[in-house]
Amino acid sequence: LPKDENREGFKGHDMLAPFTAGWQSTDLHPLVIERSEGSYVYDINGKKYLDSLAGLWCTALGGNEPRLVEAATAQLKKLPFYHSFWNRTTKPSLDLARDLLDLFTAKKMAKAFFVNSGSEANDTQVKLVWYYNNALGRPNKKKFIARAKSYHGSTLISASLSGLPALHQKFDLPAPFVLHTDCPHYWRFHLPGETEEEFSTRLAKNLEELILKEGPETIAAFIAEPVMGAGGVIPPPATYFDKIQAVVKKYDILFIADEVICAFGRLGSMFGCDKYNIKPDMVSLAKALSSAYMPIGAVLVSPEVSDVIHSQSNKLGTFSHGFTYSGHPVSCAVAIEAIKIYKERNMVEKVRSISPKFQDGLKAFSDSPIVGEIRGTGLILGTEFTDNKSPNDPFPPEWGVGAYFGAQCEKNGMLVRVSGDNIMMSPPFIMTPEEVDELIRIYGIALKETEERVLE
Ligand code: PLP
Repeated sequence: LPKDENREGFKGHDMLAPFTAGWQSTDLHPLVIERSEGSYVYDINGKKYLDSLAGLWCTALGGNEPRLVEAATAQLKKLPFYHSFWNRTTKPSLDLARDLLDLFTAKKMAKAFFVNSGSEANDTQVKLVWYYNNALGRPNKKKFIARAKSYHGSTLISASLSGLPALHQKFDLPAPFVLHTDCPHYWRFHLPGETEEEFSTRLAKNLEELILKEGPETIAAFIAEPVMGAGGVIPPPATYFDKIQAVVKKYDILFIADEVICAFGRLGSMFGCDKYNIKPDMVSLAKALSSAYMPIGAVLVSPEVSDVIHSQSNKLGTFSHGFTYSGHPVSCAVAIEAIKIYKERNMVEKVRSISPKFQDGLKAFSDSPIVGEIRGTGLILGTEFTDNKSPNDPFPPEWGVGAYFGAQCEKNGMLVRVSGDNIMMSPPFIMTPEEVDELIRIYGIALKETEERVLE
């Protein structure tokens, strides 16, 4: 596939540039989205696209939920801003904290700390953990273990935690206190004849060996997404989290659940922790927390950790951390309304009822000769293109197979996330069965067109 032709259908929109986020320029002829409606977005030329990624894994309630707009408008009229520093705060911020602590039941959480994004949530986790260990008089217990292929954000610390080389190269990352252990991708990394359970046992053993090699007294926390998102949508293999949790517990290492993508119903459970029986010490939230209508993230902290932090704060000094927009009242008002809607409309059940159609319909394409694996659960799914159906036979990157597939989706009216030869989808929870049919239909057309180009 000559490179120029990879862009067919793109109108010059450069999907091969994975991290153009932030830079704004017309030079690259970006696809400019103008408005949204339900599960669809429209570009400035009026072309309609099924938004199979829910924005960026986040607009769970779709494009024009009037209750969220009303919640924001009412709050803007009443109190557009007040901060949450020095024991001053706002009612929406307190109410949202209470709602989240009630909603998260996998393990009792005692405190919520608000930030503006998933990256800030994970940065905050690192500071909390360090403060906690300083308070306990163990200043050497500071290292973090994350996993290869994980994504935890783009700030210096959250990018360090992330296990994607593109976030490290050129930036002198990861920071030295961050270690990475195995990615739990069974299809790609299992040994011949190894079952999922055996694979999980081996990964837990590798984690334990890493802890012992570094010295358990130096390892503070382990961080994991229940289902890995940006690394290619990787659900955990059977028994994985049971075995990993046993290891971290044994060495008094805190477990941080990065629920930024998984929370609020995406996996067919309110939280990823519910689905995989994870009992975290701390939780990171963002994205669907407000259905992305306003930027907001949150950190939940267990009583065991927060008690230490609060009981020691007179000795150590306050936990000096926070942002101007922490607990922004408009963001909090929208998040409160989003959570109300998730509960009232029983979104967990809604996702559960629609996800077999979504999963089975797309996994039916697994036989395609250019598909290595299609994997997912609930309303999140990844497709990996490889040659010979083998994880070890990637297509030459210059063929741009994933980008070509993405271009065909776009041409046919659907937006997907492309990362190399990985395609990712996480549609809004509100998708109707007819929209799922359309998503599958467009996927099928794009796959057929991609097969023809690759196999010709
Ligand atoms: N954690 C996970 C699991 C994510 O998927 C993301 C973003 O995609 C982040 C953290 C970072 O969130 P943000 O982009 O809001 O900083």
